[in-house]
Amino acid sequence: MEANPSVLATVGVGDLVLLDPLSEESLLSNLRERFLHKEIYTYIGNVVISVNPYRQLPIYSAEMVEQYCNGNFYAMKPHIYAIAEDAYSSLRDRNRDQCILITGESGAGKTEASKLVMSYVAAVCSKGADVTKVKEQLLQSNPVLEAFGNAKTIRNNNSSRFGKYMDVEFDFKGEPLGGLISNCECNSLPSLHVLHAQGTYAAHGFAALQPVMCRRLPRRLKLQRDCRHHGYLGDENPRLPGMDDATNFQAVQDAMRIIGFSEAEVMQLLEVTAVVLKLGDLQLSGQFQASGMDACGIQNIQVLRDICELIGLQESILEQALCSRTVEAKQEKVVTALSVAQGYFGRDALAKNIYSRLFDWLVTRINESIQVTAGERRKVMGVLDIYGFEIFQDNSFEQFIINYCNEKLQQIFILMTLKEEQEEYFREGIKWTPVTFFDNSIICDLIESGKGGILVLLDEECLRPGTVSAATFLAKLDQAFGSHEHYESRKSQSDRHITDTSLPSTCFRVHHYAGKVTYNATGFIEKNTDRLYRGLAQAMWQAKHTLLRSLFPDGDPKKASLKMPPTAGFQFKASINTLMKNLYSKNPNYIRCIKPNENQAPGQFTDELVRSQVRYLGLLENVRVRRAGYAYRQPYQPCLERYRLLSTHTWPRWTGTARYGAWGARGPGTWSSQGELAYGHTKVFIRTPQTLFNLEERR
Ligand code: ATP
Ligand code: MG
Repeated sequence: MEANPSVLATVGVGDLVLLDPLSEESLLSNLRERFLHKEIYTYIGNVVISVNPYRQLPIYSAEMVEQYCNGNFYAMKPHIYAIAEDAYSSLRDRNRDQCILITGESGAGKTEASKLVMSYVAAVCSKGADVTKVKEQLLQSNPVLEAFGNAKTIRNNNSSRFGKYMDVEFDFKGEPLGGLISNCECNSLPSLHVLHAQGTYAAHGFAALQPVMCRRLPRRLKLQRDCRHHGYLGDENPRLPGMDDATNFQAVQDAMRIIGFSEAEVMQLLEVTAVVLKLGDLQLSGQFQASGMDACGIQNIQVLRDICELIGLQESILEQALCSRTVEAKQEKVVTALSVAQGYFGRDALAKNIYSRLFDWLVTRINESIQVTAGERRKVMGVLDIYGFEIFQDNSFEQFIINYCNEKLQQIFILMTLKEEQEEYFREGIKWTPVTFFDNSIICDLIESGKGGILVLLDEECLRPGTVSAATFLAKLDQAFGSHEHYESRKSQSDRHITDTSLPSTCFRVHHYAGKVTYNATGFIEKNTDRLYRGLAQAMWQAKHTLLRSLFPDGDPKKASLKMPPTAGFQFKASINTLMKNLYSKNPNYIRCIKPNENQAPGQFTDELVRSQVRYLGLLENVRVRRAGYAYRQPYQPCLERYRLLSTHTWPRWTGTARYGAWGARGPGTWSSQGELAYGHTKVFIRTPQTLFNLEERR
């Protein structure tokens, strides 16, 4: 995508590459000015920045789609449709696989942006009957996944608690054939998206579904009519303001039918969901034992009975699995009673496990319906909707993983932007001068290196026999990274004679590309090995409920292996590297989403909040990279059209080629220095914005 002259004629500049002077301040005030004039989109070359308007703007109509689809790109305002059009048309016409990377913090508008891109593509590709069915199925996967994967949080009423990557596959004509969804985090981090009231999250998965499940099917699902009576929900009202949950429930059911779920499957899905809710109602209490130990027992037997009826399991099996632990040693089974705290831990781990496995099943099931089977040569457009960089008051393993992911995305961004620039210069026959930039691979290595990065050390610590704790883990990090320039802790500070009381002794700090983040080491070990007691998996596997049972293949005693399951960090690293490989093979398109205020309110632009996001998104660096070569470029024809009136060579008539015309039109005295302009095979390149401004002024 090219920058275009219309970007000059809008509020502020429509392309930050043209910002002059360039500073964080000028960048911020440009975004603010545009936002206050309801111009929510701004480019950095081929990147689009989107500032969440928190109100419906009249810019997504069918006429708008039409305009961006057919229109002269060079005369139009920055828009997300422009990037969608650019990606789709180069996929269709130039046969290049595309990916659309959407990042930003919670509530910034990533999911909305991904829907806008998908609906744009659906609108502009062919309208044949078989295509319509595929399109419907692809689009309907969203409400289903949202119903189960989203939650109301204090930051966003409809927050995605999972990272989603979806490949949409097209045939050679550019018509959609199907797709493939991967959920990036749920596998490895079940705690991320449900039942984990942590920090600023008050996350309750399947928020929109619960109240209506409770009201509609209380008997069948053995639920209370008022969902707030269920333990995991507490007094929290999970309803979303402005959303009618009965209508929503209907919409989800319709979507599931369109995708191809049977009635029975839907019912089973709801039953398993109800089990998760009911587990939260189970109350455990201490029962005195002869040994003097406090052993746990179930207080409300009726709840246990309900759960077991729902899943077809003998009560005693579940009770035993929840209250005791069986260890096999030398062909002998030793049963030990759990403490109440251990019992609750097991109960919650079970609920989280069921829920995250259910979500994975949902994704697999949707994929079965939308996946392409034919072996035809395909073109692919991938859409990634993933959490942006997170810095909270208290940062834990979840933030560490999310920030690691963003570090990798930043790396791919720098490499691909530069690579793309280089390739374009090569295509156009223009000499390339290398650009210096901050290479964040040193931080990626610190985290993921197979030769002793933080994740490897964490795994080692998790597997080490003997007593391990946050303190021993931290000591290990200190030993390995005490002098690393992107690592900090109390120990490394004192080695460097720095006194900094803001860094607690239980924490370590990583200097990410987007800023310094202090992580609390407490909980890393537990979260990395977030495992289910084997007895619980075995109990689930014994249930008659076919869906539930299928979620726990590891509960089959015949298949039980002695090998430890991989850790969360290990799985995440593997899945992120697969994702990176996938993205590398495609042409990238970026959408950077910004949240303008904390109140989910229209028309409010909080400078400090936006400033921090501008930093986390690395926007200034982005502009610099983009400007490092030629800031601005344009194909000859539109360039000639715009500037032909500047020279008697080309005005009023020009009959030669656009290339020579554009060259002739530039007129004398525009260029202060040599090398300000370069003429490629199809485009003219302008090095600094000032030159373009001069041209515009003369015009
Ligand atoms: P999370 O990481 O929590 O999932 P997100 O970045 O996906 O957050 P969205 O759910 O896309 O955020 O957006 C939050 C809300 O902001 C939406 O529910 C919608 O109300 C509003 N919103 C976002 N983008 C737009 C837009 N382009 N026009 C109007 N409203 C929008
Ligand atoms: Mg989202």
